[in-house]
Amino acid sequence: MTTTAEPRIGAHCHGGLKGAVKTARAIGAQAIQIFIGSPQSWKRSPPEAAVVDRFRAEVVEHDLGPVFVHGSYLINLAAQRPPILGKSVASLAWQLRAADRAGAAGLIFHPGSAGTASWDEALPKTVRAMEQVLEGYDGACRLLLETCAGQGATIGCRFEEMRDIMDALGRDERIGVCWDTQHLLASGYDVASRDGLEATVSAFDREVGLDWLCAIHANDSKVPLGARRDRHENIGEGHIGRAAFRRMLLHPALRPMPWILETPGFGGKGPDRESITLLHDLSRSPVA
Ligand SMILES: [Zn+2]
Ligand SMILES: [Zn+2]
Repeated sequence: MTTTAEPRIGAHCHGGLKGAVKTARAIGAQAIQIFIGSPQSWKRSPPEAAVVDRFRAEVVEHDLGPVFVHGSYLINLAAQRPPILGKSVASLAWQLRAADRAGAAGLIFHPGSAGTASWDEALPKTVRAMEQVLEGYDGACRLLLETCAGQGATIGCRFEEMRDIMDALGRDERIGVCWDTQHLLASGYDVASRDGLEATVSAFDREVGLDWLCAIHANDSKVPLGARRDRHENIGEGHIGRAAFRRMLLHPALRPMPWILETPGFGGKGPDRESITLLHDLSRSPVA
């Protein structure tokens, strides 16, 4: 098998705009994912211009990137309670603009949960909220919907739901999709097996289109196929396994993606150098 250019392997790096470059360099991450502001708070905390400028300069200086920002965990674009919906729209809107100023390629977020509502009710609400977030926005940073693990009534655990959202938004090029390998397995897409991976890639291409895939969260899974829970594990220590990550890293549709680790880390302190090196090694080894 011929392998094209090496994939960019990165990680969620703690430290935000001020410290993430240091973290990335310490563990050998190329691509970087950060939070801007607290992921568990509604507090609006746009960063200072000097901090943003310094971050951008350091990313260039050390040949890092692409950069992604992970949105707040509180966001729910299908919230049934108006105050939560309004806060979610406002929060995602400022985070998208801050991520764009920081030079990020994408703001990755979890669309939310429909609660007791049906998909038919949740869809227009989610779409309307995304339209509001994108209103007047013409930045280069894309708003990326992350595939979810399927817990509760979360949105975006089926590719058909992603398709519905994207179709309703007229295939707006300001949006895109981020895969999370653990979430895919948990929501019933068998990325761990050879046939399952092919079926998953085909289903995504049919419903959404591979052109819309912009990044991959590379996480093994503490829980088995279809368990519908969000539980990340170190690569090779979960239900996905090393062989499956090797297949994914060598897959022509997935290889060119930025790969971002969000694992517990072999030392228990988050993605580490060993985790990054392992993905690099797997991306170079021939398919067994
Ligand atoms: Zn996420
Ligand atoms: Zn997760």
